[in-house]
Amino acid sequence: MSSVDQKTKVSPLVVVGTVAIDDVQTPFGSRESVFGGSASYFSYAASFFTQVSLVAVVGEDFPNAFRDVLAEQNIDLSHLEVASGKTFHWKGKYEDDLNTAHTLDTQLNVLLEFNPKLKFQSSPEFLFLANIDPTLQLKVLDQVGRSKVKFVACDTMNFWISNKKTELLEVLKKIDCLVINDGEARQLTGQSNLIRAAKDIQNAGPSVVIIKKGEHGALLFDRANFFALPAYPLESVFDPTGAGDSFAGAVVGYLAKSKDLGFNNLKSAVAYGAVTASFTVEDFGLERLRRLDQGQIEERLKLFKKICSF
Ligand code: AMP
Repeated sequence: MSSVDQKTKVSPLVVVGTVAIDDVQTPFGSRESVFGGSASYFSYAASFFTQVSLVAVVGEDFPNAFRDVLAEQNIDLSHLEVASGKTFHWKGKYEDDLNTAHTLDTQLNVLLEFNPKLKFQSSPEFLFLANIDPTLQLKVLDQVGRSKVKFVACDTMNFWISNKKTELLEVLKKIDCLVINDGEARQLTGQSNLIRAAKDIQNAGPSVVIIKKGEHGALLFDRANFFALPAYPLESVFDPTGAGDSFAGAVVGYLAKSKDLGFNNLKSAVAYGAVTASFTVEDFGLERLRRLDQGQIEERLKLFKKICSF
């Protein structure tokens, strides 16, 4: 089995997360064995803005065709391990409003034994801990040289809040930014009000909190400022899977490209996140992102600006 044994050059942005095979049911149809995973969507979206190194594990069943999808965006796959066993598998279903994913089945498979080993020649400037077991997020944080990383952001989901809350709270102490959806922010803090939830999260560690609200947009907080942005209004949403991860990918990818963590630039990053995610949901899996280019992102951003200003 391939493991990471040679030191490689690090990209400006490193992501650890899941690379998955998904079964997805939406009101518009069902697909089996779709290419998914939090790190796959994140890295693909981020790669429109900057070079990304992906840290993840797959099983022997992982198709070469899926690997090629990541390679087509020049994503650094030197830390994509192949382990004996099956790839992480998620099965989810969306109701008619498409806002909430219901997990029907989670097969952790090779994730159970995953022990990420970072063999980069230096620390990255930006690190994203995508949705994965918080124990693994901590292992990556321990290896990366935290003080040398300019910005660490993190995502999680209900599955880990229910099963690994202690570890997740440890992660929160060590990061700069949490990107989380509204339901998960409420579950994590016990606060039904999202502004209070964001403050509680800030008190647990990260100074920047981004709360995603599906078709209702996103809220951005730092310790002194607050910003609210709608989602880009779409007439046809096909498959919401990966919207959150590609939102985060564009946000952190844009920050890694611009290297500016001021609040105004954070606002721009969130706008790029909303626009990029709006493309993801127009098709199953990564298919719409594969037909996307920077020009289309900029064009939609311009329109978005127009409909948001008054
Ligand atoms: P989202 O952007 O929130 O729609 O994320 C969708 C992706 O998350 C899917 O492609 C899944 O493979 C992945 N996923 C689902 N459950 C988990 C989990 N417990 N941990 C990490 N990734 C997951």
